[in-house]
Amino acid sequence: MRWGTWIPTVRVVAMSLEAEFVDWLKEQVGRHEALCVGIGDDGAVVHWGDADKHGGEAVVVADLLAEGTHFVLDVLGPRRVGRKALAVNLSDLAAMAAIPVAATVSVLLPRMNAQWIARELFEGLLPLAREFDVAIAGGDTNTWNGPLVIDVTAWGRLTPSGPLLRSAAQVGDRILVTGRLGGSILGRHADFQPRIDEALALRTEYGIAAGMDISDGLALDLSRLATASGVGAILDVDHVPVHDDAHRLSADTSQGPSALQRALADGEDFELLVTAPPDVAATLTARSPFAVPLTDVGEIVAAAGLSERRGDGSLRPLNPTGYLHEAEDRTP
Ligand SMILES: [Mg+2]
Repeated sequence: MRWGTWIPTVRVVAMSLEAEFVDWLKEQVGRHEALCVGIGDDGAVVHWGDADKHGGEAVVVADLLAEGTHFVLDVLGPRRVGRKALAVNLSDLAAMAAIPVAATVSVLLPRMNAQWIARELFEGLLPLAREFDVAIAGGDTNTWNGPLVIDVTAWGRLTPSGPLLRSAAQVGDRILVTGRLGGSILGRHADFQPRIDEALALRTEYGIAAGMDISDGLALDLSRLATASGVGAILDVDHVPVHDDAHRLSADTSQGPSALQRALADGEDFELLVTAPPDVAATLTARSPFAVPLTDVGEIVAAAGLSERRGDGSLRPLNPTGYLHEAEDRTP
């Protein structure tokens, strides 16, 4: 399971570069009247007509996948790459509680086999577009002597309830996650189902306001949500729903990260992370309205930072990045 240990290491480096650059860019770009929600959430909310109604606002997300950085073409194959390129964008639209509308797809193809790869990419992508009624509105196609790069920009519309935001968590909220986490490298990182329907139900039927999708691991993404909301979080680690794939991987690599560590830090789960007032959270977990489980994994607190709480009630600080490195260091 070499890729399971290699990919997260690359991701940690890329993320710290990205975080620094994004902060710089935010400063350079400044405010603009067309941006209701700008850089820093899962997507942007762009003012698109009638300012009095959320219907007049569009959500736009963008995600680029590059061979060698995000996937190994020989391992994944171009069909799954094409599907994943759209799916990660749909997951970001879900994270904003947006209904997908349209997408553009731009590809930079290796000259060798360019025609075949291009067709395969779309053979993988188009069934998912049909499933979520996404119009493929165009894009750009180029060839070069480098590896495959695919870049998707997707557009969504909001319901009258408005978006889910990373910045909307409140002290006292419970923290909920959909599905099970960890070990996505065994296949789910490419073949996952974007949680569009679940996100729309959480926003419109249950009034949930704070959320994001889990792309870089529960610990790191929860710390981002807490920071964006100006709050802290306590994670009940014994309640974290660990996927069978995480158990399978940690059984295969007995000296590597534990299944729980994988659930907290592997990433690419593309599940939803939301926060809800305790009564709403209790209703949701009792009702379990989705085909996937919905689990209460902790609470939002006033004190900044992330803590982990064990079953015996003991608390200790949880450094999400440290957690990642620790997991890597323990990998043979
Ligand atoms: Mg996201």
